[in-house]
Amino acid sequence: MRQLEGYLLTPAGFVMGQVAFTDTIQAIEGQTIEGQIVEGQTVKGDPAVPTLPAQATRLILPGFIDTHVHGGGGGDTMDGAAGVRTLAKFHAQHGTTTLYPTTITNPWEKILAALTGVKQVQRETGLPDIPGVHLEGPFINPAKLGAQPPFTLTPTQGMLEQLLSFNIIRLVTLAPEIAGAHLAAEVLARANIRISFGHTLGSFQDAQMLASIIKNAGGTLGYTHLYNAMTPLTSREPGMVGAALTDRDAFAELIFDTHHVHPASMLAAFYAKPDKLALITDSIRASGHPDGESELGGQRVFVKDSAARLADGTLAGSVLTLDVALRNAVAAGLTLAQTSRALSSVPAAYMGLTDRGEITTGKRADVVVLAADLQVQETIVAGQSIYRAT
Ligand SMILES: [Zn+2]
Repeated sequence: MRQLEGYLLTPAGFVMGQVAFTDTIQAIEGQTIEGQIVEGQTVKGDPAVPTLPAQATRLILPGFIDTHVHGGGGGDTMDGAAGVRTLAKFHAQHGTTTLYPTTITNPWEKILAALTGVKQVQRETGLPDIPGVHLEGPFINPAKLGAQPPFTLTPTQGMLEQLLSFNIIRLVTLAPEIAGAHLAAEVLARANIRISFGHTLGSFQDAQMLASIIKNAGGTLGYTHLYNAMTPLTSREPGMVGAALTDRDAFAELIFDTHHVHPASMLAAFYAKPDKLALITDSIRASGHPDGESELGGQRVFVKDSAARLADGTLAGSVLTLDVALRNAVAAGLTLAQTSRALSSVPAAYMGLTDRGEITTGKRADVVVLAADLQVQETIVAGQSIYRAT
């Protein structure tokens, strides 16, 4: 049994005390903090600015869950097993305890090979947990590629069955307006795979129509990197963004590296769906490397000032990590508790991971230990320390 002492974020609020765990959380003891925190003393509760009281040397939050991550630390999901291992180790250093390696639109055989690579790593220890894959493309709108390479496909029954046979895909980005989208939505929803609308030029009505098909099939709907690569919200055309913000059941992922989404737009999304907005990285292999040239899906990518772009200037994923997303969101005005939920309990609920996402007795001991300045000190997965800052 291991114990950690610090400033714990539980579903009931912050507790100054101890958490005891084996592979699951056994006990939480301490005093619930009411009110907020000001420098040096306990005064207020859910601190927007996490200046800790003197006795709180560390913060203990639920581990971060990333539902959209292509790469990091030099590795990419499309590289196969070695790439997945590399990216998983890299994101562990930034507090991620669960991740979904994410494929990119590529020739069909390359996508299938990537699925095999993830399966090879899935049961390895010492890494964040990998419940499955996020398939981003090829079932997207060829006119809204963003930084996806031009290998889009129209889904067919045969293709969908081939994908399902790998039994590793848990989330699929789909443009609801493309041919075959209805078929894909029904087949995937029935297989308990989350469907996320993205890389789409679809209208509000396109989203509504397919959303009802997904709900009737018992499925769960999300929106891929909200605001980016989708039709915007305007006064008379609510678009895909309007569909995302007004569907109370739908989840949405958002890249908060401050390049993809303005802080005010992030806050608007959060206020519209405080229990459904999940922060993601959409990180690429260049994440963790200095500025320079990199690669995404066979394309050249240029990283400068923490933004990754194709030669034509299109944003090409990010170099974000979830600890940076946490610091960015707190700086933008979310409280620490709100941000933590967007990084842990919300993505857990989205993906149906009922065993994690909160620091509660009986949940997996997936936690991230942070210093008062929100830098990661340690990452713990199912009770095992997988990263410790030196
Ligand atoms: Zn992506």
